[in-house]
Parts: sequence; C-alpha cells; structure tokens
Amino acid sequence: MAKTMTFPVGGVHPEEGKDRTSGLPIRVSEPPGEVAVLMAQHIGAPARPVVKKKDRVRKGQLVGEAQGFISANVHAPVSGAVKAVEERIYSVTGRRVPAVIIENDGQERWARGLNEPQDVESMEPARMVELVHECGVVGLGGATFPSHVKLSPPAETPIADVFVNGAECEPCATVDHRLMLEHTDDVVDGLKLIMRIVKAPNGYVGIERNKPDAIEAFRKALADEASIRVVALQVKYPQGAEQQLITAVTGREVPSQGGLPGDVGCLVHNVATTLAVRDAIRFRRPLVERALTVTGDGIENAGNFVERVGTSVAGILERQGLREGANQLILGGPMMGIAQGTADVPLVKGNNALLVLRGARIPPQRDCIHCGRCVEHCPLGLMPAELSIACEKQDWDAAVELNMLECKECGCCAYVCPAKRRIVHMIKFGKAELRLRKARAREGS
Ligand code: SF4
Ligand code: SF4
Repeated sequence: MAKTMTFPVGGVHPEEGKDRTSGLPIRVSEPPGEVAVLMAQHIGAPARPVVKKKDRVRKGQLVGEAQGFISANVHAPVSGAVKAVEERIYSVTGRRVPAVIIENDGQERWARGLNEPQDVESMEPARMVELVHECGVVGLGGATFPSHVKLSPPAETPIADVFVNGAECEPCATVDHRLMLEHTDDVVDGLKLIMRIVKAPNGYVGIERNKPDAIEAFRKALADEASIRVVALQVKYPQGAEQQLITAVTGREVPSQGGLPGDVGCLVHNVATTLAVRDAIRFRRPLVERALTVTGDGIENAGNFVERVGTSVAGILERQGLREGANQLILGGPMMGIAQGTADVPLVKGNNALLVLRGARIPPQRDCIHCGRCVEHCPLGLMPAELSIACEKQDWDAAVELNMLECKECGCCAYVCPAKRRIVHMIKFGKAELRLRKARAREGS
C-alpha cells in the first residue's frame, strides 16, 4: 500500500457522512428570480456599494468595490435591475450588513469584456494577480480570505511549495471531491497558474484516501509532470486545515503566534478556490457562483449544486425538500459549520455546504471533569478546557495567555468532550469580545 501522510498531533475521526452525495454529479441550478449580494462576505474591509436602486446591471458587473488591499470586490450574479440597497443577515456573524438586491431579468447578459478568453500565455504574473483581485476571488473552503493577498507574498518569504487542498476532511461535504473528478484538468491548470505567479518550483495535490477515484484521476493527469506530486493523506480531521496539510506533506511547522504558511515557503488554496483563480485569469470571470453540497437527514433530495451567490438559502431548502422533523440548519459541515437561527439568509462565497438535521437537540452542558481528552485531541496542542473556562469567566488576560487567538475553531475538543462543553462557542465568544474591546480602544484613543 502506498504511504499515506498525516499531521502528528491530535485530530479526530468523526463519521464521514459523505456516501449520500459523493457519487452525485454537480448540477447547475436555475438562477433565482432575485439575489441579495452582501457587501461583507469576506475577511477584511466590507465592500462599498457602487450601484443604487433602479440601476440596470449586467452579470459580473461590479456592485461592491473592495475597500483597501485586504478586501474583495463583489459582482452581480445575474443581469437585471437593482431593487434595493438594504441590510440582510450575514450567516457567519448573524449581523445585518448592506446588500445589493437584484431582480433577475433572466437574460444572463455578461458585462462587457467579462467571461472571455484572455491571452494567458504572454500574461505577466502581476496582471494575473490583478485579475484575481478584480474578480473578487476569496478562499472558498470557508475562510474567505482574499486570494490576491495570498498570491502577493512578500519578497523576503519566497514560496517553494504550492498546494491544492483536496483533503475535504469536513464530514458531509463532497463538493470538492466532485470538482476534482469533474474538473481534474482545470484544477491542474489553476495550480500551474498559481505556481507561475509565485514562481514556485513544486506543486502538490493533497487528497484524503477516502477519495481514491480523485487520487487516481490526478495521478493520471499528472503522470508526466515532474514538478507536481499527488499526495494521499490519511483520513483524519482536520487534515484539510492549512497548517496540518503542510506539516503532513513537508514536515514543516507554521510558526505559532500569527505565523503564516508563507513563513515556511508554502501557499495553500482549496480546490474550488484554485478553479476560481483559474476562471479569473483565463476568462476574466468574476466569482458570482459557487458549488456546494446540500445534505443531512432533514433534506429530501440531497446533492451537489452550483448556485449563484446571493441566492436565498430558504429557497434552496424549499427546492430540495425538507423532511418532517427537520429542525436544524448548519451552514458548513458538522465540525466547523455555523448553526443558523433562520434560513432567511443569502448564500455567500464561503458557503461550501448546507446541512439540515432532524430531531437535533443541544445536549446539556456539564462541569469539566478534567479528563484531558480535549487537550489530547487538539491539533494545535492548546489547553481547550482551561481556555473555555477563562472565556466563561471573561478573564481575557488568561485567555490570551492560553493562546486563544491561535485556536482554529476546528471543533475537535468539543467533539470529544464527555461533558458536552461548548468549548468552541466560548472561544468564539472570547475572540469576538476581544476584537470589540480593541475596536473600542482604537475609537477612544
Ligand atoms: S477548536 Fe481550538 S482549542 Fe479546540 S481543538 Fe480546535 S484548535 Fe484546539
Ligand atoms: S474534554 Fe471536556 S471534560 Fe474533559 S477536560 Fe476537556 S473540557 Fe473538561
């Protein structure tokens, strides 16, 4: 058997829950009659709306302009008329943020100069990054970090190794698996373009061994490529976290205390992001749609779909059918996804899965019994029990001392906790509270 790699510390083996949709080809859904395009759906500064009520827009037209380098443009996913610029709920934060509401005219007319083949062979790397920036590409694995920033590493930290992250370790999510099978050559093309931009000599496609058909497809496609390796990864959560993937393949450790993959010469993009980067460079195609998995025991017709950004999540669920007893919606998978209080939210670039559960209930939380399981399974070697208690007591000095800001919110600690403590919830609360205090201090100074 070929050697498989993994990260050395912590991790868990949750039930995969992928069988229901992993064999289902991606279907392109009909665009909805109306979309709500949020201005804040990425890491960094929210975009600024550049259209107003009654404006006519074409598909791909800029409707929200990035504000600063760490920000991202947003574009019209359909052609039509701007019905309103008003606030809608952002599912990631639960807060209302400005959104451009567009009534679809069904014409699918692209804005001039977009969605057309570009002369890539003679294109300079700087122009490629400019196109990625212009097209509003962000990390589609859920992180939503603007891709043009990642593609502009500082000169003092050159990139040697570029990864396509095909681990898809989150239970229930199968869309990256399908993209790898259905767009193998395009993923390879995207990887090569990224290697060209950052002048990296080595490429890797990292895939967990529970996707042998994808591993096989890439081994075939890359049979003559000496500079790109396909790496079969052990099935272990969170194998797809950047840090864990890099350590598994290269043995290098991303420094703690705010270190980045670039500090160890690495750059990681997930499968869907690699394809979006390619679309931006090859076709000047803005990111106006994304593929995602819709699944869970509360969904009648599960599957993998391409949906327009801004589509109503409630509309998707209605179309796929809810089963009796469906009572919980999670955007993302069961480990890192965010439970929603309402389905009345628009789809954003970072949504890789909609999970609907039935008969779900939140078990009562008990006191910590100091069993140490959370420490044993934390892939970052943190002290989740102490950390969550510090957050509960609102002792922020202690929480920072315990490296709260290093936590990647992977959920391994909460998954193994016999006392069902809501460790990640408390850490998220702690991080949000600290951000708020810093912002207030800045305003006051
Ligand atoms: S959520 Fe944070 S503390 Fe918990 S296991 Fe993951 S990294 Fe560690
Ligand atoms: S796993 Fe739960 S009960 Fe055990 S030490 Fe961690 S927080 Fe406490």
